[in-house]
Amino acid sequence: MSATNLLQFDRAGLVDWFAAHGEKPFRARQVFRWIHHKGAAGFAGMSDLAKPLRSWLEAEATIQGLSVLTEKRSSDGTVKWLFDVGAGDAVETVFIPEAQRNTLCVSSQAGCAMACRFCSTGAQGFSRNLTTAEILAQLWHAEFAMRAQLGLAPGERAISNVVMMGMGEPLQNYAALVPALRVMLDDDGYGLSRRRVTVSTSGVVPMIDRLAADCPVALAVSLHAPNDALRDDLVPLNRKYPLAELLAACERYLVHAPRDFITFEYCMLDGVNDQPEHARQLVELLRNRFACKFNLIPFNPFPQSGLRRSTPQSVAAFAQILVDAGFVTTVRKTRGEDIDAACGQLAGDVQDRTTRKAARGGQSATQPVIPIVAELASSPPHATVARASTVAARRFLEG
Ligand code: SAH
Ligand code: SF4
Repeated sequence: MSATNLLQFDRAGLVDWFAAHGEKPFRARQVFRWIHHKGAAGFAGMSDLAKPLRSWLEAEATIQGLSVLTEKRSSDGTVKWLFDVGAGDAVETVFIPEAQRNTLCVSSQAGCAMACRFCSTGAQGFSRNLTTAEILAQLWHAEFAMRAQLGLAPGERAISNVVMMGMGEPLQNYAALVPALRVMLDDDGYGLSRRRVTVSTSGVVPMIDRLAADCPVALAVSLHAPNDALRDDLVPLNRKYPLAELLAACERYLVHAPRDFITFEYCMLDGVNDQPEHARQLVELLRNRFACKFNLIPFNPFPQSGLRRSTPQSVAAFAQILVDAGFVTTVRKTRGEDIDAACGQLAGDVQDRTTRKAARGGQSATQPVIPIVAELASSPPHATVARASTVAARRFLEG
């Protein structure tokens, strides 16, 4: 029987696993803290555990992170890891330091089935859901790598915020997501407050309600359009859960949310959704409805999209209409450009072994990294991920 990876468990799960083997809950808690407070990758050094228990754990369990294909550091301090998740899939995780906080952008899936028109992950199609262990391994690795790199004092935390804004639609991987969120929030885990953990969704309405019930962290909703016709085109999921349903779900979520507003992300696409008329429609849609703020994201182009980034003038004019109507509005700032973490694209070919490739006639595609950007103001930075074959990723590193 293969060893059990303890990174897959939230604390309750670890207690259950220990109990199933006749071990006491407080032992599970000790091990949990070794893993998530101290970054233990093995059992030998768990000095407060009796030797027989350590030996048993060594035989039965592992603490198995992900292998790092690349780690790149920007001159602005942004760090980007490309992790191998097997079978040619890779996901990215990005550490974005800012004056008041250090944010980690985490991936939830290899690829994404949502097929948003402006998103390179969407263009790649869906490969698979990440497991809880793979989601947590990104945080576990980044936290302890950054503690070492930043030379922090023992116990001092490197990461203050997590945003589920990497590759994939987190609410389409709900079963794996929720235990991972619980570890982020757990004082014996990463001890982050619910306000400092953000789930970003393209609008999976039933799962917004479930998240409200199970683990209400901060919510960001990728809106991108002020009416159903345009949103149907940009975010195909809108055909299943149109704006009226999505906004109703946001309103319900606010009852449970740790913040008293919903953040709407809006990717600014030249001539598509960035006209003053669109801003006015947004105002009409949301005025007197519920507390929300806008986060305008300059589009990061990729070759197959056929879309262009809005001009700074259009973004400014659009923002002004929202601000004049009383909405807090921020524009995201690009980060990590020199490591292709922002506006950058993963150079080199990336394998595309998804069904969508077949649908496109099987051409191979050069798959870019989605952009990594940080916001100017108070909401969480956006970052992104790449799905790459191991070989392609290595070529990227060497090239
Ligand atoms: N699937 C989730 C979270 C991951 S995408 C979601 O869609 O919300 C995180 C954010 O990046 C989303 O707001 C998404 O719209 C945005 N994004 C995707 N592709 C982009 C691009 N090419 N340029 C700018 N932002 C992009
Ligand atoms: Fe998936 Fe989000 Fe990209 Fe849409 S924007 S394809 S939901 S990752």
